[in-house]
Amino acid sequence: MPFKNILDMHTHSDNSPDGNHSMTLMCEFAVSQGLRALAITDHCECNQYRGHKYDRSIRQSYFEAVKARSVFSGRLIVAAGIELGQPLQDMDACREALAANHYDFVLCSLHNVTGVPDFGNFDPSLKETDYEENIRARYRTPGNPYRECVKKYYDELARMIDRVDFDSLAHFTYPLRYICGVAGMPLDMAEIREQTDDCLFRLAKRERALEINTSGLRWPQGWNCTMPGFDLIKRFKDLGGKYVTVGSDAHYFNHIGTGIQEGMELAKNAGFDEVTLFLKRQPVGIRIA
Ligand SMILES: [Zn+2]
Ligand SMILES: [Zn+2]
Repeated sequence: MPFKNILDMHTHSDNSPDGNHSMTLMCEFAVSQGLRALAITDHCECNQYRGHKYDRSIRQSYFEAVKARSVFSGRLIVAAGIELGQPLQDMDACREALAANHYDFVLCSLHNVTGVPDFGNFDPSLKETDYEENIRARYRTPGNPYRECVKKYYDELARMIDRVDFDSLAHFTYPLRYICGVAGMPLDMAEIREQTDDCLFRLAKRERALEINTSGLRWPQGWNCTMPGFDLIKRFKDLGGKYVTVGSDAHYFNHIGTGIQEGMELAKNAGFDEVTLFLKRQPVGIRIA
């Protein structure tokens, strides 16, 4: 039976460089799908903060989210959020972004490790035009140091968890979507268990939420895995984790709410009775029922 109380805690509007649709359209769609709450979490890549004018786009995003909250009041809870990328790579930008607006919800993410290109970005020196082909070419090139990159990813993640002011940690297994999901390269989770355990333990200890990101159920085709998958969600619970948020990471309006039912099911099976909504940076437990 489908769950009620669907919350999508990770979505992007056209205030993100890779977002496509207005908040009005996103909220209208969320209402039409019967969602109870929607968090707008536009990108703020701290390592490119001023160069890519995130200082302006996050203000616009916040302004629109607050307007949407009032327009949709009584029909949809709109949380004004932000997805802080690579905060440790420019802590001044991170602090400035957090101080700029009174956020409801702060997601923290790591798209590219210091000195390593975004796990999902193709190598521009390759002539391929197809996005997925480029990713495959990158990770299938003999000698590609993807194992070391994954280790560096979890090293930086551990430091982020301890040092950054955030509410939920986004797409915990982000590199695996590209390395395993797209390129099909082998990576035994046992190889990185010590590091993933360490991160999940730190997250639980700081009483921050783990995000169940459902975009991996849509893309890449056939991967069919949330980020993280069930085993790590369960591990987080076993290590004392209290909060989980579920988000579609929609960059198109019609992806809003997709996979949230499945994400809630995983949370429930891992032992969580609630998913978490954040308002004014405070966790609000919403029963999975
Ligand atoms: Zn992200
Ligand atoms: Zn995102």
